Amino acid sequence: MESAETKTKKPRIAIVNLASCEGCQLALLDLGEKFINFANNVELVDLKFLEDEKNSREKIDMAFVEGSPMSEAEKKTLLQLREKSKLLIVLGNCAAMGGVPEISNYREQKQTAKHTYRYIHGIKNEPIQEVDNFVKVDFTFPGCPISAEEFMEYFPMLWESLEDGQDLPKIPDKSVCVECKEKGIRCYLLDGKPCFGSMILGGCSAVCPSAGLMCQGCRGLRPGANVKNISKGLKNMMTEEEFENVAEIYGLRDDIEAKEKIMPL
Ligand code: SF4
Ligand code: SF4
Ligand code: SF4
Repeated sequence: MESAETKTKKPRIAIVNLASCEGCQLALLDLGEKFINFANNVELVDLKFLEDEKNSREKIDMAFVEGSPMSEAEKKTLLQLREKSKLLIVLGNCAAMGGVPEISNYREQKQTAKHTYRYIHGIKNEPIQEVDNFVKVDFTFPGCPISAEEFMEYFPMLWESLEDGQDLPKIPDKSVCVECKEKGIRCYLLDGKPCFGSMILGGCSAVCPSAGLMCQGCRGLRPGANVKNISKGLKNMMTEEEFENVAEIYGLRDDIEAKEKIMPL
């Protein structure tokens, strides 16, 4: 496959953060020399992490969006990005699923604000809405943070799709369990310990089970998962409240509930 580097035309791209911790952009910068090589082979018209560029109306090939829009200004930025970009791609769990901030959607709004602010009068604590509530999303890099290696693997495919009018790439529908087994990790479920990995999209090298932690689902539900059955099994190992608490960490709870409603047992 011809890589982005060999194309004569460099892709014009912008990497923009809305409300986020900027950890997904940091994951890219953390690639060091690899990221510098990447940046030399694209026309990077905006990288919000390093420079606060003024929004220009110039057309770009791909906009990468980290975080979800919380203010009116961020909503406007997002709509403008969509208008001027051939592809709009989201970076990470916050943009794709609401992320950690979505916990406030599940809790009484003022209760969450009062943990941060002493005086909450006049503070707007709007519900968190993912990027695809506002604009069409062409591709998602999942995870919290994203896998920078996955970004490097899929970027040339996205560019190729755009240049040659091919279908956009898809991340294979395999669970975290596949990589977990490849690494020879004993499944937590065998010892009656909960783990969300079997309904979650793999591609993270099962980093949490490898470190002695259950998968909490930061990469989101995999399309083919039998969410209803898997959730039922997990709820035999944990209380409903424990299940909800885990599912809320990465904005998974609303996705699970939506699937539970539509999927037969
Ligand atoms: S997905 Fe995770 S790393 Fe990325 S912006 Fe959100 S909280 Fe930060
Ligand atoms: S420990 Fe978790 S990710 Fe690993 S095989 Fe078991 S359910 Fe899957
Ligand atoms: S194991 Fe689960 S929670 Fe951990 S990085 Fe992978 S998908 Fe995210």
